[in-house]
Amino acid sequence: MRVSQLLNPTLREVPAEAEVISHQLMVRAGLIRKSAAGVYTYLPLGLRILRKIENIVREEMDAKGGQEVLMPVIQPAELWMESGRWNVYGDELFRLKDRHNREFCLGPTHEEIITDLIRGEVRSYKQLPLLLYQIQNKYRDERRPRFGLMRGREFIMKDLYSFDRDEAGLNESYQKMYEAYCRIFSRCGLAYRPVEADAGAIGGTGGTHEFMVLAESGENGVVYCSECDFAANVEKAECRPQVIENVVVEGERKLVHTPEIRTIDEVCGFLAVPKTSLVKSLLYQGDDKLFLVLIRGDRELNEIKLNNALGGFVSLELAPSHVVEGLLGCEPGSVGPVEVPVGLMVVADEEVPLMKKVVCGANQTDYHIVNADPSLEFRIDQIHDLRMVEPGEACLKCGAPLKEARGIEVGQVFKLGTKYSKSLGATFLDENGEEKPCVMGCYGVGVSRSLAASIEQNHDDYGIIWPMPIAPYHCIIVPVSTKDAQVVAEADKLYHELQRLGVEVVLDDRDERAGVKFKDADLVGYPLRVTIGSKTLANGQVELRERKTGETQLVSVEDVAGKIKSLIEKALSS
Ligand SMILES: [Zn+2]
Repeated sequence: MRVSQLLNPTLREVPAEAEVISHQLMVRAGLIRKSAAGVYTYLPLGLRILRKIENIVREEMDAKGGQEVLMPVIQPAELWMESGRWNVYGDELFRLKDRHNREFCLGPTHEEIITDLIRGEVRSYKQLPLLLYQIQNKYRDERRPRFGLMRGREFIMKDLYSFDRDEAGLNESYQKMYEAYCRIFSRCGLAYRPVEADAGAIGGTGGTHEFMVLAESGENGVVYCSECDFAANVEKAECRPQVIENVVVEGERKLVHTPEIRTIDEVCGFLAVPKTSLVKSLLYQGDDKLFLVLIRGDRELNEIKLNNALGGFVSLELAPSHVVEGLLGCEPGSVGPVEVPVGLMVVADEEVPLMKKVVCGANQTDYHIVNADPSLEFRIDQIHDLRMVEPGEACLKCGAPLKEARGIEVGQVFKLGTKYSKSLGATFLDENGEEKPCVMGCYGVGVSRSLAASIEQNHDDYGIIWPMPIAPYHCIIVPVSTKDAQVVAEADKLYHELQRLGVEVVLDDRDERAGVKFKDADLVGYPLRVTIGSKTLANGQVELRERKTGETQLVSVEDVAGKIKSLIEKALSS
């Protein structure tokens, strides 16, 4: 491809609305353009990258026995009503009506459609297992679409659904997909971690893993072991209680006046005790139910664990102060676990019962209790692991210290079981002629998000640095001058030679200054650049530069094509 012919509008300025680097660079490098909030057009180079990721995904799905299908974007509401999700999915579901007033949605996922297909087509255990996948647009009406392709309203996913006869079959399908995902992200040249995404996964069969591309800008916190392969989403990582020696205030248990003292820091400062001696008491509202949550003063409450422990509320939040005052008769900063009203459930993190003498709120505005004894004074109804894991804690598998990183979720493998096959009636007859529901798994790769995540992980001040396997083109040839006939002729010659060798190459034949061409080449992020100028050509040489390392070398005109070919092959095979 000649750059003069290529629709690749690059920009020097950072677009004002682009908050994250991948969004900025995709717009600046001319890969995408916005059509509406969270909805984008892929320009030629952007689409080439997308297709490469898709093809890697496709090859790995096929290698595991996956069969590609293509399901509709438009899905009838009836199926969603049958599965029970039409009403619970909420505002993120794009809903529409046809001219006959029949309701539809734009698919955010395809469990309903595929299960409907299977219930119509599968009769016997002999037809199972089935691994069916598609690469398809998905729709989610985000309240605030942002971060470019990272959180769009229209995005591209690969979704595979497995149908097995039993749990053992599901485990096999799950393992296949797990392995395929590791290969996909390795082949895309991404540094990633599969993380346990379920608090109960350790030691059990494991219900779900998320695949995280590690990048500072990632929305998800990840903890991982410095020694073994353990990694988990920080919001879901299991914790073990740590026993620590309480520092107590001199003297007996007493009620202390703490005027205008509200926050944990203020209480600790006023009473001269460390946060580890304090019990935080928080009144929470889960749907229309109130309960009191206790956690050590230095710990952060994990609301996801709290919600899981209590059975899953639709909405879970701190109770507003008027509710606190109405129930406990004090303002939120003085709430405590003593003399709790009958009927108010008290839920404590595992560490609280291990504490000896503590500071806590007194349930009277502007009063705290020092040297309270949890074992004597607190009525605790339930004890759970409710806190956030912290870096430096011991790995639950091997004891080595945990480290912290940020990650972008690009894939998830998930054991669905019989949730959809039961509600939609996707059954088969087993060897004994008995009717059973298919056991299902679902497995997603965010294809467009992987593209963005790759940029978040691979860029510098000058632009994108594509890993070779997903680069839009492997190599760009930059003739320094378009006026010098010899330079132009050599550039053309090399261009055709590389094409003959099967190298994906662009020739920057624009009548621009060399500096402009170099800037664009760095911005777009071609892995290899060949610069052809009269000075080096006088010695029969051209300059070959690697985008990733910035290393340049002079190579003879005769050798350069072979050298490029072997560099690409090496990068693609590693
Ligand atoms: Zn470990």
